[in-house]
Amino acid sequence: MGQKKTIGISEAQLGKEEALAVAKVMRRGWISQGEEVAHFEAAFSAAHGDLPAVAVCNATAGLHLALHALGIGPGDSVLVPGLTFVGAVNAVLYTGAEALPVDVQGPTHPHICLKTAATALTPSTRAVMVMHHAGYAVDMQAWADFAAHHGLLLLEDAAHAPGLPLVGRYSHAAVFSFFANKNMTCAEGGMILTRDVELAARLRRLRGHAMSSPTLHRTKGHAFSYDVDELGFNYRLDDIRAALGLVQLRRLAEFNARRRELSQLYYRLFSANIPDVQPIFDAKHETTAHLFCLLLPQRTNRASVMRFLFEAGIQTSIHYPPYHRFTWHKALFSQCPLPHTEEYCSRTLTLPLHPGLTEMDVHCIVTRLGEALCLTKSC
Ligand SMILES: *Cc1c(COP(=O)(O)O)cnc(C)c1O
Repeated sequence: MGQKKTIGISEAQLGKEEALAVAKVMRRGWISQGEEVAHFEAAFSAAHGDLPAVAVCNATAGLHLALHALGIGPGDSVLVPGLTFVGAVNAVLYTGAEALPVDVQGPTHPHICLKTAATALTPSTRAVMVMHHAGYAVDMQAWADFAAHHGLLLLEDAAHAPGLPLVGRYSHAAVFSFFANKNMTCAEGGMILTRDVELAARLRRLRGHAMSSPTLHRTKGHAFSYDVDELGFNYRLDDIRAALGLVQLRRLAEFNARRRELSQLYYRLFSANIPDVQPIFDAKHETTAHLFCLLLPQRTNRASVMRFLFEAGIQTSIHYPPYHRFTWHKALFSQCPLPHTEEYCSRTLTLPLHPGLTEMDVHCIVTRLGEALCLTKSC
């Protein structure tokens, strides 16, 4: 009898090609931001409708940089999804602006709600940030209309959505993450996509302390000193990670297709076998299938279900714990009613989903979840 393998919630797909790409950069000698970053930006842009792309060290920094470059600061407020990763909310707070959480549409449709957003606007509101949760596309046309109507900037947190065709087309900036558990990874990294060429140029300057010439140019003798004409940041990506990102980008379409196939299998198995478990969104929704999230039946002891699955060798997670209840954040958001977000956060469970999963794994996960629900309900 062999040791039972653990089915991971997400597993980076890293192979020989990635290793060779990294080794090539190391041999070349220049490992910080340089040619490889430029290649990565060009390739990412080509894969996303040729919109200008600016690489950064992670998506949190990317969101902060985009908000800052768009002029968001103290005295402003930004509408943010009630359901999101805390880093996206922190990015707003770094600028000195107020974050105004907006409830999600409903527990099985946990995108920021447009109708609720209209009631959350204040005279200081300058921007709205939407997030393609689990990779499921937000209705960007509707948000672009909303933003235009109210004179707001529109930002996309596209951390879950690389390869989604509409991303970046309707917003002022869309920000991607290449953290290890995302659809493509370079360990830590991010990318900002924007239709605005001038904004892209400004983002490029601001990510490197707004220095008038980057270090690489100076080592090549293109310049011997530099000036700084505004307060910038070090939010650069490096050539080692960019090399990794380039290989992952080439594999992205295949990764996303495989994720979608596995998600479709989950949808079929749940509706056939465990109909009281409700996967979020639906099988027809356009998606990169970043996560497979579902709603457990009301009053399920989620911690017991997670423990049962863990002991059966299946990792699970929660996307996301409600940030408005975090110890540090709760004082900021005590006045925000978020009933749908709270219901979603209390009942949601994320199952393993990554391109390395087999159909057998998915069958096994659904069977085990059925058992866990029976046990915890003592049926
Ligand atoms: C991962 C993630 C981020 C932050 O990305 P980093 O690259 O880790 O900074 C932001 N928003 C969402 C929705 C995410 O999933």
